[in-house]
Amino acid sequence: MLIKPFSLIVSCQAFNNEALRDSYVLAKIALAAKNGGASWIRANGPEDIKGIKKLTGLPVIGIYKDFESLKKSEAFITVRKWQIKEIIEAGAEVVAIDCTRRPRPEPLNELFRFVRKNYPSVEIIADIADLEDVKTVLKLKPDYFSTTLTGYTDYTMNHKKPDIELISKIKEITDIPVIAEGHYKEPRQVRQALIYGAHAVVVGTAITRPQVLTRNFYDALKDFSYNTKVLGVDIGGTWIRMVVVDLKRNILERFKFENPQEKNEIFSEISRVVQNLGDITHIGVASAGRVDVETGIVTFASDNIKNWSGVNIKNEIFKRTGLIPTVDNDANAAAFAQWDRTKEENLVLLTVGTGIGGGAVVNGEILKGKNGGAFEIGHLIYPLNTNKCTCGKTGCVETLLNGKSLKSAFEIKDKKKIDFISEVYAWLIDSTKMFVDFDKFYLTGVIKFYGDEFLNKIRKQYEKLSVLNKGEDILFSTLDEFGGAYGAALESLYFGGESK
Ligand SMILES: [Zn+2]
Repeated sequence: MLIKPFSLIVSCQAFNNEALRDSYVLAKIALAAKNGGASWIRANGPEDIKGIKKLTGLPVIGIYKDFESLKKSEAFITVRKWQIKEIIEAGAEVVAIDCTRRPRPEPLNELFRFVRKNYPSVEIIADIADLEDVKTVLKLKPDYFSTTLTGYTDYTMNHKKPDIELISKIKEITDIPVIAEGHYKEPRQVRQALIYGAHAVVVGTAITRPQVLTRNFYDALKDFSYNTKVLGVDIGGTWIRMVVVDLKRNILERFKFENPQEKNEIFSEISRVVQNLGDITHIGVASAGRVDVETGIVTFASDNIKNWSGVNIKNEIFKRTGLIPTVDNDANAAAFAQWDRTKEENLVLLTVGTGIGGGAVVNGEILKGKNGGAFEIGHLIYPLNTNKCTCGKTGCVETLLNGKSLKSAFEIKDKKKIDFISEVYAWLIDSTKMFVDFDKFYLTGVIKFYGDEFLNKIRKQYEKLSVLNKGEDILFSTLDEFGGAYGAALESLYFGGESK
């Protein structure tokens, strides 16, 4: 076996239309890769192979890309005997052959026989796209399989990139070593591939194609200008609040409307604002309920906004404004606004109103979960509580802690009830500490009306629960009622990309 276990192989290739298309330049890149720890190079065509071998002295996996076959979407990596001959004569110790089940100019078994007969010391890598390919090729006994073509054939287009699990699936049916290749971008993926049974790994674009790497950075900044102006929108049960924010995160304007409780009217209202302002370049939306951040679909909302479940916020806004918004749950957006202000790596924000919303920033990232439902801690069930909740469950802690319950206790100055509520708050905060070892826990919304005296009560109760608990870690947030809208605008600045 020529390729040693745990080898890092770097693929050094450039097409004719690419700036680095020059055998000497590619050899230099290969040399740089060698200096970084690569022990093999994968290269295309006899000229590059010769140049790389001469300059680096490294062994080479040779391929020959057949552009005629590529144009026809057929198998195209080293698919003809004369190509095999040329790259082996250029010095390739190992040859990789496209073994996908696409149409091909010469039968695969002939190519294998050609190598085995004429070049017995040369090893063969079968470049495959999926497990079915592996099964088809097994009888030809390649020396290695490589997952090179996964994601590139029409039958694997939708596979994960990189498809690391494919490695373990192949290992289940054969002992032939598997090389991990195709879409590997990060060191941790390479590590995972080895854990899943890969023999060695090939990394290409992420190391050797600076134009692609440049594009990633360019894409991250090209939508910004001095004219960047973000509309942050917070769609709540009663109010729709908006802020206009510039690139430096200054709030230029803030306004609010009563929620018309009708989907089309809500979006018409937003698009009217965008039209009136005339110079909005980005939109960020925060919404009550659970929101799928990728698709922009509200996956679950209570009746606080009528018929809101299932609405696709991204599509609706894009249809009316031509801008693709970032979308998130309102409490997540508010937690992010808090993070932007105070920068704790780990913080929790609880918004108290009609219901209770929770958002958390953990290790500097907003915790979202599968449907944006992570950290809905208002719906933890408090022991022995039998109150019905708007979410359909019985006993949610929000039924004890919401604005209404606070109001009724404080209006009649019911000391016992106020004590009880502060105890339950402390319980919720202490429980939260077990999920997220937060630096600070922020409270916002109507709870702030009840002032420092009430806050101190909660702090004392919290300290009573554990010697590790520090009351000073619980604070009122300085965010105002526009915190959610501001956070939505910030999410668009930080995470939104090209918006037109
Ligand atoms: Zn609930």
